[in-house]
Amino acid sequence: MKNTHADIIIAGAGIAGVSAALAAARHGHKVILIEKYVVCGGLATAGNVLWYPPLCDGYGKQVIHGIADELLNMSLAYGPGNIDPDWKLNDSKARLMAHFTPAAFMLALFELLKGAKIDVWFDTIVTNTHLENNQLNSISVYNKSGTTHLSAHCFVDATGDADLAVASGAKIHVGQNRMNFWYLYTSLNAAKKAVSEDDASSLLRVKVVADPDPANHISMMSGVDGATTSQLVSRTHELALMHTKEKQAEHGRHNHFPAILPTMASTRMTRGIIGRSTIDGDDIWRERDDSVAIYPSTTNPAVRNQMWELPYGSLLPEKIDGLLMAGRCIDSRNWAWNDSRLINVVALTGEIAGTAAAMSVTKKCTPHTLTTEELRKTLRSKKHYCTFSDCYGTNWKDLAARFQPEQVDKTANGH
Ligand SMILES: Cc1cc2nc3c(=O)[nH]c(=O)nc-3n(C[C@H](O)[C@H](O)[C@H](O)COP(=O)(O)OP(=O)(O)OC[C@H]3O[C@@H](n4cnc5c(N)ncnc54)[C@H](O)[C@@H]3O)c2cc1C
Repeated sequence: MKNTHADIIIAGAGIAGVSAALAAARHGHKVILIEKYVVCGGLATAGNVLWYPPLCDGYGKQVIHGIADELLNMSLAYGPGNIDPDWKLNDSKARLMAHFTPAAFMLALFELLKGAKIDVWFDTIVTNTHLENNQLNSISVYNKSGTTHLSAHCFVDATGDADLAVASGAKIHVGQNRMNFWYLYTSLNAAKKAVSEDDASSLLRVKVVADPDPANHISMMSGVDGATTSQLVSRTHELALMHTKEKQAEHGRHNHFPAILPTMASTRMTRGIIGRSTIDGDDIWRERDDSVAIYPSTTNPAVRNQMWELPYGSLLPEKIDGLLMAGRCIDSRNWAWNDSRLINVVALTGEIAGTAAAMSVTKKCTPHTLTTEELRKTLRSKKHYCTFSDCYGTNWKDLAARFQPEQVDKTANGH
């Protein structure tokens, strides 16, 4: 078996993993990024997600900065679409968000990783973890070269399903996953329209497919496992085929055909860790002792004025050191999870995990012994807001007072 070492190893090149890798590498550390598929972006690209949710609060103030902001702009670098500049107006419905084209975003993410000289191992899956006294020291990965043993000072689990945490024996909580997925279709008429109007945005259309039969909501599964993932993917194909046949009976195969199917299982909230801290549904506008970031609730961008503080402890598995979580598998529960798994926030948790990992290497400590104050200092130097007061000053409670709990859609799970 071969052996390799890096300062920081990140598992999963979804939006969280890419952000973590960029943050860690920009601190000057040797980073290896492991990805089981052959593209970057995870669900955001291979799952045809398309919508980059807002970084602003809905009142014209940008609340998320840093890599999440860089990625928002890069999501449009090689594809059509624009950010509506009216997001800066206090009473506009426009938000600081974008609709992007998945393949264009994949290329932009790859370019960023190359620019930061990150060693990306594609087509490589993490199969095992190795610990000593609850400290994660190394992992095993498998690819066409066989198994390699990779050691590092610090690891980031950005696999979406908490694969490293589970393999390390960390305690987890599981979520319910709704059956619906997005695929892109097009037609010769759409192509003609795009050419005649000189507007490529009408070329690809998105179909959100939900299973019409509630008995078949197999993805209302708890957590994730091999068999249900296969069932879910099979059902996805059946439904896409059904939809295609229906539409082609109406329009013919030239005027409705599938362009891009999801190439990842369309799962959302599968597994999250039990962390040192948790974010829960009732935590809107709640101050947290170990807060290192803030983020808006954007599942429904029409609803404003819901803001979360993100505790550093939600990225730290309770008992396993040497490991940070990023993305949709941090410790976040109920409808707080629904917001923290969106790509604006997974980019943010990725940057925080990558920064904390880099600081642990520099300071020769572990993520669990790095203090919130040390981490805040670095994040603030990069223009991040770590608390409500950082963003709104001592008057933040006036804004919070406008929050109406009845606006919250606790069942929202559409994106
Ligand atoms: C149908 C659907 C629609 C959605 N719509 C929206 C939307 O409009 N806007 C929005 O913001 N969010 C949306 N979401 C949610 C959002 O896309 C995801 O929650 C987010 O992209 C998760 O990012 P992540 O980096 O945490 O995880 P993921 O995107 O899941 O990335 C994890 C990465 O890790 C890799 N990986 C996993 N296991 C291993 C392993 N063992 N070894 C190596 N690599 C591994 C995977 O291949 C993947 O690349 C949607 C989700 C779905 C399913």
